[in-house]
Amino acid sequence: MYTDMGTILRDAAKRNYAVIATSAINMEMARGMVAAAEEKNAPLIFLLGQNMMRQHAKAELMIPMIRTLAEYASVPIAVCLDHGNDPERILYSIKNGFSSIMYDGSLLPFEENTAKTKEIVDLAHKLGIAVEGELGHVGMASRGDQKDESIYTDPEKAALFASVTGVDALAIAVGTAHGEYPEGLVPHIAFDRIRACKKATGNLPIALHGGSGSGDENIIKAVEAGINKINVVTDAFNAARNYLRTTLENNPKTGYMDLMVGEEQEVKRFISHWIDISGSAGKASSIPVKGRMDRLAVKMRVGESE
Ligand code: 13P
Repeated sequence: MYTDMGTILRDAAKRNYAVIATSAINMEMARGMVAAAEEKNAPLIFLLGQNMMRQHAKAELMIPMIRTLAEYASVPIAVCLDHGNDPERILYSIKNGFSSIMYDGSLLPFEENTAKTKEIVDLAHKLGIAVEGELGHVGMASRGDQKDESIYTDPEKAALFASVTGVDALAIAVGTAHGEYPEGLVPHIAFDRIRACKKATGNLPIALHGGSGSGDENIIKAVEAGINKINVVTDAFNAARNYLRTTLENNPKTGYMDLMVGEEQEVKRFISHWIDISGSAGKASSIPVKGRMDRLAVKMRVGESE
């Protein structure tokens, strides 16, 4: 079922679990991720960033493929533009069939972020597209930004931002950062701040960015504190890369087709684990999705050729 992120995340907020939001840049990753969601009966959100689309994963190719997978699937699936801040790219994403937009104005002054986010919400909602905003700033692990409390989200401002903009979800900064942490470092997450943002915004769906490298225990506790969307990208790419590297190191003559099938299975294993720690397993079938788009009654499973 292809749907918007708001429909999925409202259920997650109501029932206190989180949905995995991750990126696929090819068919193997997308199929592996959908297969995990189906097997676990969990909703799933695909993220495509502006640079991913510029460099490789063109929306014109990726969206029809992901939508087809979603329409075959028994679980709700959304596609969200990740960290959109370029109006042209936002319009391009809307024209190409994204069901959701994340507008990232987190580096702008509060008033400007609020006004720009509201503009996007007003436009997107007319089209049935959900919007996530960001307040506070989730920075880069390579710069150690996760430790900088000055960029964490202020719960009172979060409440004002949410009520003025009408966003469907809010990304908050609470001690994680995008990308890879130095080896051995596990971030300290400000669970109290998650709880405070959740309370201040009246149970608005709250997103945790920079999920990679956070550690299972942190993720489980973050969900208990009120997180409803967990973005995990770097670790998904690394899981696929590590599989390919290990397989080729062990057997340099592995056939290309076998490598692709294996990558799909590895991505499925990876996402299944994240679904387990997010609490979303078993939740999909009771999410009220309006306007189901699953026209095709055929199932596609990992490893099946037809
Ligand atoms: P990671 O790549 O650190 O998991 O962060 C992903 C993310 O937050 C995308 O918005």
